[in-house]
Amino acid sequence: MMRAPRFRYVAARSVGEAARALADDPGAMLLAGGTDVVPGIKRRQHAPSLLVSLRRVPELRGIRWGDDGGLELGACVTLSEIVEDGRVAQSHAALWRAAAQVATPQIRNAGTVGGNLCLDTRCNYYDQSIEWRRAIGFCMKAPGPGGTARTEKAGGVCWVALSSPKCKAVSSTDLAPALIALGARVTLASTGGERRIPLEELYADDGMAFTTRRHDELLTAIHVPPPAARTRSTYWKLRRRGAFDFPVLGVAGALRVADDGTVEAARIVLGAVASKPVVVDATSLLVGGALTDDAIDAFEEKAARFARPLDNTDFDLHWRKRVARAYLTGVLCELRGDDPASLGLLQRRAAAMVPAG
Ligand SMILES: Cc1cc2nc3c(=O)[nH]c(=O)nc-3n(C[C@H](O)[C@H](O)[C@H](O)COP(=O)(O)OP(=O)(O)OC[C@H]3O[C@@H](n4cnc5c(N)ncnc54)[C@H](O)[C@@H]3O)c2cc1C
Repeated sequence: MMRAPRFRYVAARSVGEAARALADDPGAMLLAGGTDVVPGIKRRQHAPSLLVSLRRVPELRGIRWGDDGGLELGACVTLSEIVEDGRVAQSHAALWRAAAQVATPQIRNAGTVGGNLCLDTRCNYYDQSIEWRRAIGFCMKAPGPGGTARTEKAGGVCWVALSSPKCKAVSSTDLAPALIALGARVTLASTGGERRIPLEELYADDGMAFTTRRHDELLTAIHVPPPAARTRSTYWKLRRRGAFDFPVLGVAGALRVADDGTVEAARIVLGAVASKPVVVDATSLLVGGALTDDAIDAFEEKAARFARPLDNTDFDLHWRKRVARAYLTGVLCELRGDDPASLGLLQRRAAAMVPAG
């Protein structure tokens, strides 16, 4: 059994109290559901001097609806609360589907949306016990991301890409691609005040410094605009085990299609292919045309270039690249309203693929 090292603990009662605790201690870490941070502490990936729990902060709870159908989620809303909300399933399907596919019911009962959006990046060479990582001489990410105390000397190398000056650990949050596709913004609070940014700006393409959140900031709320008329959204996830597993590919899409079939707005976002969610330039590739099979073919070929997975998670990377094309096709076929039982174009694409070993 892995035991956690010693750390101090405080259960904040307000956003202000949590922000002060962060500001006062550069070694402090936030704890929401703890489903990711606690195993990480036990594996010595993090070595916080202080854990600041957010679970007793009332301002961080609750799903709130605006009169216009916009959605505000407190950072400590659990994934189960999202999944149990039928209105979310109806109006923001991509978010609901992403939440429903995270881990297991038990983990979704504890895991929060804020914790999911700030989830540590993952890698075959990092998500291991400390003994395993010590045996390979660690890597540049070991023992933990910036802001936590360092207990072991980092190896200084990225085992995924030996000449890379930065860490290639991969963004593995299911909710981030879905919420970016839906145009979400997030509020970050510190003792100095609040700022609200588009969710995609929360992320940086660096496996160690993978968010732009300052150490003294906490994420307090997620704001999702109301769905425009004739807009559909969805989220497709590839994972090793169907029962529960982290994504090795996620494709989120939101599309507004006019009555005559012309695409008026499009957002497509890929997860688990880089250290941050990758926004595909869907506007220039799709908007203004109709979603014919030929248009989907052309889009899929160009969009798949945005998916450049490395050998840092499960499945063969060449297969992951190819399967990205099938997932992009599947998402677009679903969004144009194809019968899910007969996504013909997708089936043709999938039939051409050899399963990964
Ligand atoms: C077996 C298993 C399977 C899993 N499968 C999946 C999966 O399929 N998909 C997936 O996306 N995740 C998965 N997870 C990861 C995790 O359970 C979820 O992402 C969960 O939503 C994390 O939320 P949490 O509240 O438990 O975060 P915590 O573990 O409490 O925190 C995670 C990180 O976010 C930071 N943090 C938490 N709240 C805030 C905040 N308000 N502001 C700023 N930083 C904050 C913490 O300091 C920490 O760095 C899995 C975990 C396990 C153990």
